[in-house]
Amino acid sequence: MSSVDSRVGSSGSGVPRDLRDALAQIARTERLLVALDFDGTLAPVVDDPGKARALPESRAAAERLLEVRGTRVALVSGRSIDSLEEVAGMSDETLLVGSHGVELRLDSPDDVFTLDEDEQDRLGLLGSVLDQVADNVDEVWVEAKPAGFALHTRLATEKSSRIAHLVALSEARAEVNDLTVRRGKDVLEFSVRSTTKGEAVEHLRRYTSSTAVFYAGDDVTDEDAFEALGSGDLGVKIGSGTTVADHRVEGPEDFAHVLTLLADLREAWSEERPQSN
Ligand SMILES: [Mg+2]
Repeated sequence: MSSVDSRVGSSGSGVPRDLRDALAQIARTERLLVALDFDGTLAPVVDDPGKARALPESRAAAERLLEVRGTRVALVSGRSIDSLEEVAGMSDETLLVGSHGVELRLDSPDDVFTLDEDEQDRLGLLGSVLDQVADNVDEVWVEAKPAGFALHTRLATEKSSRIAHLVALSEARAEVNDLTVRRGKDVLEFSVRSTTKGEAVEHLRRYTSSTAVFYAGDDVTDEDAFEALGSGDLGVKIGSGTTVADHRVEGPEDFAHVLTLLADLREAWSEERPQSN
């Protein structure tokens, strides 16, 4: 048993052996990025998204990781940054990625999200197309998003909703180039900037000059992030569903133990290491 193992003791109990070994390895990288999805990963999924909160154990582990030198922590979510900030309540040093990579809140106020001229032009065009659709169909409305709009049809009849979706899709695609469309329940989301959590992870990896990335998530959109991982990185899928991640745990409660073990191992590595300055 190495001194790190003995220091960490039994905190990894319940974490599968192969995952423990992988954590022990990534904990020894020079500069580590810990990138985490929020809903279904740090926080159990609840009916009211405004009431979602990270499990205390996970939050404590994430806050400890923030304190270890050579370690950055990022939350990578489909939520808007505002919503993510509100529910996560993490320290300011936490890097935030919202709207599947469209919005970023990094270290400096300059690191904010802006659309370039072309994107702004396309956003204006998209807005007028969707407004027209909403004006012509009862109980359909348009919500502004950071790089696009959501067309809501929740209160419309099934037929109106179907028509609104069809017309909005064909008109928007005919008028505006390079649109990204996400379909949700009774909502169509259009974005003039195409980003995925995978691109967000790549961006964060460069931004933090990380030598390895740990990523955890539970949803289909997290697969893009797992795809962006390479050798030396570590991905943990939470819950069921097909995944390209190397490791899987059952739910946020199990993941809390994983994150705690990572914090233990990383702290131990940091303490053992000679100070470089
Ligand atoms: Mg999630």
